[in-house]
Amino acid sequence: MQNTYTVDVKQDRYALSKQLFDRALKLIPGGVNSPVRAFGGVGGTPVFMAGADGAALQDMDGNQYVDYIGSWGPMILGHADARVIEAVKNVMEVGTSFGAPTDRETALADFIAERHTSIEKVRLVNSGTEATMSAIRLARGYTGRDKILKFAGHYHGHGDSLLVEAGSGLITHGSPSSAGVPKALAELTCVAPFNDVAALEKAFYEHGEDLACVILEPVAGNMGCIPPKDGYLKTLRELCTKHGTLLIFDEVMTGFRLDMSSAQGLLGVEPDLSCFGKVIGGGLPLAAYGGRSEIMDRLSPIGDVYQAGTLSGNPLAVSAGIATVAQLTPEVYAKLEVTGAKLQKGSEEIFSDIGIPIRTHRVGSMFSIYFSEELPYTFEDVQNTDIEMFKKFFHAMLDEGVYLPPSAYETWFFGTCHDDAILDMTFTAMRRAAMKIKNT
Ligand SMILES: *Cc1c(COP(=O)(O)O)cnc(C)c1O
Repeated sequence: MQNTYTVDVKQDRYALSKQLFDRALKLIPGGVNSPVRAFGGVGGTPVFMAGADGAALQDMDGNQYVDYIGSWGPMILGHADARVIEAVKNVMEVGTSFGAPTDRETALADFIAERHTSIEKVRLVNSGTEATMSAIRLARGYTGRDKILKFAGHYHGHGDSLLVEAGSGLITHGSPSSAGVPKALAELTCVAPFNDVAALEKAFYEHGEDLACVILEPVAGNMGCIPPKDGYLKTLRELCTKHGTLLIFDEVMTGFRLDMSSAQGLLGVEPDLSCFGKVIGGGLPLAAYGGRSEIMDRLSPIGDVYQAGTLSGNPLAVSAGIATVAQLTPEVYAKLEVTGAKLQKGSEEIFSDIGIPIRTHRVGSMFSIYFSEELPYTFEDVQNTDIEMFKKFFHAMLDEGVYLPPSAYETWFFGTCHDDAILDMTFTAMRRAAMKIKNT
């Protein structure tokens, strides 16, 4: 008798994605329009998507995934939310852009201002990068100072002043982390480690009178999810006030994700300026920055700080944003908290059963698993976790139908569509993936 065991002869489950990536590589640098999509952080070829619904993604080969990226944050209501689609369709039919004001823009500004006690006026822009870039220019214009302080591992988009990394030493003048960023500009950016009060005090002692602003992610999400230590933001707030330095919360990721009043409401610390993006665009390109009138009124056309945008406040994006934030009630955040607690506890139990040491951080619907015995609090700590283990885990999860961020330095996001059935699928996949990486 011939052998009777069945061999899985199914073709490569990513075959079409691989072909599509080859073609994209010929026409788009690295085959992608934003670097992290290229799977450089985990190896392999990126998966090309065909569509999405709720918590599910479908790729071009027909594979289904539970999605823990949510388009890198915006999809808090899940993909293809009916009310968001309806709102965009309705607006689309009366014209997609006018280059003139509409009352929808005021309505979205009102939403943002009403929910954040630190904000009286808002300017809408098209991307998080534009929001942080503009907020920094405004801080420089307002204070008449040139230097800024940022934190190692915090990401604020790709503006020149922010593509800067720490040199050696505790507080350093930044050096460009990208070719094309003038050294002279990078030197105006000081870089400090996050969650380190001594470093903060030193930075203010050395540069305080020259600092236009400090910009940070109030809950870091671009080095994995790393919350601030107790009292850290309060100390930062006090130092900024004392030195006449503006405090900018980059809430592009945390805004409307952690709470209706964002990280600032959740943690009870008021910045001078705030940047938003991701969730407030409901999956369309939209971002914003805002603060007290006294600062915001320095913007053109009434003030001397220039900032503009042809598609800023675009009707489609604004209507998607309003349709999204209008649904974000306290009940939604309570539900996300319950989902998050289950995801965190379930993940910890699985890895503990299988005997792989992990630690986790979670704030609301932002979650990270670190392959480490120690809980990280700085970028250096995250770099010391087992990145190779994450890469194996990522691919094992992908093969099991769970789409995680393709980098150990990114936060997982979930939304209101991640129900118990989705969590059970996730845990089944996670147990199998953990067993697989344990044995390699
Ligand atoms: C995503 C992100 C940005 C950049 O936003 P883009 O829309 O990609 O330009 C800025 N800051 C933070 C904290 C982000 O997470």
